[in-house]
Amino acid sequence: MDDVLTSCPACGDLLDIAYEWDKLPVPKSLREFEAAWSRRNNPLDFSGVWRFRKLLPFAPDDKIVTIGEGQTILQNSQAVARYVGMDPGRLMLQHEGLNPSGSFKDNGMTAASTHANMVGAQHAACASTGNTSASLAIYASSTGLFKTIVFVGSGKISYGKLSQALDYGAKTLQLAGDFDDAMRQVQAVCKQEKIYLCNSVNPFRLEGQKTIIFRILEALNWDAPDWIVVPGGNLGNSSAFGKALIELKQLGLLTRLPRIAVINAAGANTLHRLYNQQGLRWNSGRPQQQLVNTFYDEMDRDGRKATTLASAIQINRPVNLKKCLRALDATDGIVREVDDQLILDAKAQVGAGGFGCEPASAASVAGAKLLREEGVIAPSDRVVCILTAHQLKDPTATVAYHSNDKEQFDKVLAPLGVKTTAFANSPIGVANEIDRILEVIHGF
Ligand SMILES: *Cc1c(COP(=O)(O)O)cnc(C)c1O
Repeated sequence: MDDVLTSCPACGDLLDIAYEWDKLPVPKSLREFEAAWSRRNNPLDFSGVWRFRKLLPFAPDDKIVTIGEGQTILQNSQAVARYVGMDPGRLMLQHEGLNPSGSFKDNGMTAASTHANMVGAQHAACASTGNTSASLAIYASSTGLFKTIVFVGSGKISYGKLSQALDYGAKTLQLAGDFDDAMRQVQAVCKQEKIYLCNSVNPFRLEGQKTIIFRILEALNWDAPDWIVVPGGNLGNSSAFGKALIELKQLGLLTRLPRIAVINAAGANTLHRLYNQQGLRWNSGRPQQQLVNTFYDEMDRDGRKATTLASAIQINRPVNLKKCLRALDATDGIVREVDDQLILDAKAQVGAGGFGCEPASAASVAGAKLLREEGVIAPSDRVVCILTAHQLKDPTATVAYHSNDKEQFDKVLAPLGVKTTAFANSPIGVANEIDRILEVIHGF
């Protein structure tokens, strides 16, 4: 706990947090957490992450760094259920975009910041497609605990996210490369300069993200859904979900687990290819590393880069691959890929259904629809799709889809294989005259 390590010095693999549960005050029932609702004047009980701190018991209360994250809810959406092909009331959306920095990353960043606080870190860094940097930057600026450096790939980051890092005062390096390059560089820099690394290679991040599962279960009165569908980028979230469920089962707090479905973008589908085409499995903790090495060697040789409008999952070398395999193994999970056309159509439906999300988030809804069509998910199943971030994170993609501006379409969407905008809600140009305006309105 006193060390700042993200990988095992001996084998180089990621670290994993393991608790000595028999020495800890484990709750007897998940219902015990409901009492925290009556103590909301205590910031730790108010936090949607830390009110579950008995299930991530690595920090003393006085070291916990919280800004009120995790006030997120499970929403029912009839419109999105219809689109996906579910029976009414069977599709739910866990809206993690309602976090302080607008994405689920705050669940993990509060935990990483807490550990950084415990070890007295002065500087923290991350590589980011945008949301991790926004989240780290908000924790650093609002608590004043450490200075922050973020590495982003040049030209890849949406303005919504870049503006957050800049506004919150993080030193922002726009690297001449993509996310996978930024990830490699930040790991090297942090190691050399002893800077606290806040990417999801940091095992404490995953501890915080476990609480998304706890909140979903709580919203369902502790009765697990049949499916949890989550977009897969670096695979930290899916790994954290799996760890949460494995631990709940171990502790005897949950008997039936949901199945996890991880959804890749087709333009960044490393997990899909390794899992579905090459048969890579957890294999009791010994995945066939040779399959992974060969896959990456070929990727480098062919110069293949991740390409998708869903920039938050535009990642070809998912750092939590192995932990994700564990999650898939424990939950009888599955993996699918969806193309940008499906993602953007699903995003428009999530918007029209009253919530809205950024493109990567909509991969979960697109994936659920695909699994419905395949017959893997039944219309009567209870399905939770994770909306990983807020709609305002990436307005460029949204406007390019909805506007009937051909130039925007050709510039933003067409290069990624998007052909139609079937659910577009285009703005209507009108002359500055009441008669013309009324003409248009009467035509609705
Ligand atoms: C980070 C992120 C993801 C990917 O999550 P991983 O844990 O990296 O798999 C998906 N959607 C959004 C909006 C994100 O910010």
